[in-house]
Amino acid sequence: MINVSKLKEGIVIDHIRAGHGYKIFQQLGLDRLEEVVVLMRNVESEKMGHKDLIKIESNLDLDLNVLGLIDPNVTINYVKDGIRVKKVSLTPPETVTGILSCKNPRCITNQERISHVKFHLVDAGSNQYACEYCDARTRL
Ligand SMILES: [Zn+2]
Repeated sequence: MINVSKLKEGIVIDHIRAGHGYKIFQQLGLDRLEEVVVLMRNVESEKMGHKDLIKIESNLDLDLNVLGLIDPNVTINYVKDGIRVKKVSLTPPETVTGILSCKNPRCITNQERISHVKFHLVDAGSNQYACEYCDARTRL
């Protein structure tokens, strides 16, 4: 079992739903970091059965909106000098711009290749978002 305190300085993204770790890894661009990043998959968890976990040995500015969008149930632990100094829980963002794209093929945003489309949260439980142009529902 991984021990958070082994990380001297950095961020631990915990309670990632099993199988979602890689998605988060990609969306946050962690493959482009020069610091040590560890992605652990299918770690045993009392609460969740299995979970994924990411350790980052860097104090980068995480995009919490992206994280909340992918998996609002994750917890983020900030570690300093081997001690957890801050724990952040996420909520799905009310609106997101430029991350989601509309799944409706007839939507104007797809016809005219409009980028930075705004989506509004319609159902926090299932993380469903509505396109500002056609109101079609989508999720990441
Ligand atoms: Zn649309």
